[in-house]
Amino acid sequence: MNERTITTKYTNGDVTVVWQPHKCIHSAICARGLPTVFRPAERPWVVIDGASTEAIVEQVKKCPSGALSYFMNDALASVQSAEEEND
Ligand code: SF4
Repeated sequence: MNERTITTKYTNGDVTVVWQPHKCIHSAICARGLPTVFRPAERPWVVIDGASTEAIVEQVKKCPSGALSYFMNDALASVQSAEEEND
């Protein structure tokens, strides 16, 4: 697999944070804004239970590079069930 295009997902069952390291510009905005969740010195570096879903979503939206993104698991489940109905 090409390491530059690896995507990692972290979920708390409510929201899923998607991490695309090849896009990160190391601004540290995530680590400064929500240090209980984004811990670059640790592995795994995203502690998904470190804050509320709302706080995580708000911080992910501030990522300037798009390296962090998110989706709500409910939205994915409704898309998947709609696809199953169409099968
Ligand atoms: S805010 Fe985005 S670009 Fe900045 S360090 Fe975090 S993941 Fe990388």
